[in-house]
Amino acid sequence: MMGEGKNVSKKWEKYSIEGDKLVRKNIFCPKPECGPGVFLARHKDRMTCGKCGYNHVENASSEEE
Ligand SMILES: [Zn+2]
Repeated sequence: MMGEGKNVSKKWEKYSIEGDKLVRKNIFCPKPECGPGVFLARHKDRMTCGKCGYNHVENASSEEE
């Protein structure tokens, strides 16, 4: 029964260490009510903010607002 070790510091999965640098994998929500500290959740072809609902389409060539 090896059910332990699943809840270890999930937030650090958003970073990866390259050499001695901390590389940010996710981007922050650009909305002022969120700002730095609120990550966008990465999806297949877009990123969304779970807090304010901001939607960032990575390839927005055919989908402009
Ligand atoms: Zn947001």
